[in-house]
Amino acid sequence: MTDVAILGRFDDLGIWKQGDQRAPHKPLLVLYALGRWQAGQKEVGFRQVEPDLTLLLREFGPSRKSDHPEQPFWRLQRDGVWTVHAPADLALKTCDDIPRIGELRSHDVRAEFSPEVQTALSSDPGLAAVIAARILERHFPESLHPDILNAVGLTLETTVTKRKRDPAFRQRVLKAYEYRCAVCGFDVRLGSVSIALDAAHIRWHQAGGPETEDNGFALCVLHHQAFDLGAFTVREGVLLVSDQANGTSGFQEP
Ligand SMILES: [Zn+2]
Repeated sequence: MTDVAILGRFDDLGIWKQGDQRAPHKPLLVLYALGRWQAGQKEVGFRQVEPDLTLLLREFGPSRKSDHPEQPFWRLQRDGVWTVHAPADLALKTCDDIPRIGELRSHDVRAEFSPEVQTALSSDPGLAAVIAARILERHFPESLHPDILNAVGLTLETTVTKRKRDPAFRQRVLKAYEYRCAVCGFDVRLGSVSIALDAAHIRWHQAGGPETEDNGFALCVLHHQAFDLGAFTVREGVLLVSDQANGTSGFQEP
């Protein structure tokens, strides 16, 4: 397979979506596995993946009652990029087509990238970084990219083409918000230039959110990252704090 065909498989990951919500499970598992690949580990066991992926889901996914790392571990096979080496007689979950999590744990079921993907990754040392960059660009807001890369131990030295952004978007949004953070009012300027102030997308750019003022609001970098991580959302112009958000210092502001 060509690199282009391999990239196409990663671009087309079947992702659960509901409205603006997208499940980050498969993208995070791919990034995790690419990190392991870069570290020289080709095969991963479920007992290793489960705690690591659970942490990634809690940190970078929308808040949920349960995390289900077994779902991407099993279902990523369908996307043609992942192979699971499971004994044939694993007991399935009731009313589902995936094994019980206890079965995956007790057999420490192994998985790795599919043979075609491994061949492509081995013959092109830059491919892992390209796949990772495209997954980040498609599924996660830019403010989270460095932390996600850090968390999965990946380095990207390859630059990729990005979806075109409207450079005037930031200016229009900051102006509409009088150059202050919509949450804390932060408005530090150097001369006339606002610093550490972003134009955040209410609907993630990655989810097709438009570059118009009504899809944007001004946030300081701290509140921008908290927003992208799901600590609060905006509905009809009102800030809603997640019931998962908690803390002491700095928490009362929103
Ligand atoms: Zn702020």
